[in-house]
Amino acid sequence: LLVEMDGFESNEGVILIAATNRPDVLDPALLRPGRFDRRVVVARPDVRGREEILRVHTRKIPINDDVDLFILARGTPGFSGADLANMVNEAALLAARQNRKTVLMFDFELAKDKVLMGAERRSMILTDEEKKNTAYHEGGHALVAAKVPHADPLHKVTIIPRGMALGVTMQLPIDDKHTYDRVYLESQLAIMMGGRVAEEIFLKTMTTGAGNDIERATEVARKMVCEWGMSQLGPLTFGKKEEQIFLGRELSQHRDYSEETAREIDAEVRRFIDAAYKTAFEVLDGNRDTLERIAQALLEREVLDASELQMIVAGQPLPDRVPPPPADDSGSVQHVLRPDPARQPGIKPGERPSPA
Ligand code: ZN
Repeated sequence: LLVEMDGFESNEGVILIAATNRPDVLDPALLRPGRFDRRVVVARPDVRGREEILRVHTRKIPINDDVDLFILARGTPGFSGADLANMVNEAALLAARQNRKTVLMFDFELAKDKVLMGAERRSMILTDEEKKNTAYHEGGHALVAAKVPHADPLHKVTIIPRGMALGVTMQLPIDDKHTYDRVYLESQLAIMMGGRVAEEIFLKTMTTGAGNDIERATEVARKMVCEWGMSQLGPLTFGKKEEQIFLGRELSQHRDYSEETAREIDAEVRRFIDAAYKTAFEVLDGNRDTLERIAQALLEREVLDASELQMIVAGQPLPDRVPPPPADDSGSVQHVLRPDPARQPGIKPGERPSPA
């Protein structure tokens, strides 16, 4: 590559572009002026980017008038381009399965949940005991999430097994998040502890279901101490890591601190976790009947969305479920899978009604 590039004159109008996930290990010779000397970071798309990406992917799909790509873009912070493409594809499949002519917003919402939380495993049979444990466990997460400060709003709580999990409590930030403050992280820790605390208070037992929560919480607390300087040990980094940055995987950790500091780090990590546990305990112990109602509602309905959870927390009765849109027998999506010229112009940026 370098030999070839050296052959280019600066006035030849040839631009060479390359992409990598590992800019950290590139040979400096490659990055000298005249070679790959400019760097463009392609991060995950922001809300505008997501809307445009959705527009591209929905071009060949007959979407219903009720579909608002801007709302979908707002509801998918953190999604990559591939996630969005996947969501559109899943939505089209759902509509086709229902023999609908067009893809509804309803299909997109289901597809979003599938991409977010993994596919439902309806075939997995849970015993009543497991269902009950899961309902209280997830209810614990949800109630703590509803009560602690700076937490992302709840998106959904479900006790239908998805992926590896028996239940899922999903929060979704309102906007794209680039940094996290300490209160947010402490709240996150409390939410993760909520599942285990609910098991202890309401079921008088502990289950292995909390294993993943505990692992993630410990990891966050350790980062708060060792990477983000948020503990009493002050703004220092402890431990040099070799990480495959873009894969988010730690390859090895090289210790650059003493035995004594190691003990202090462990104590600080424990302090964060203990505080989170205490917060979760206080929330759940002080709102026992609310958690009972969440768990009962979960056992009845299997899924609770944000508004239903808000009603339960506010002590209001839940309204009956709105049935999903009926299947349309007059023709399937495949029949009309061709570009619809009338739809192409779309909403131009700036014309969009501001979201409520
Ligand atoms: Zn959990």
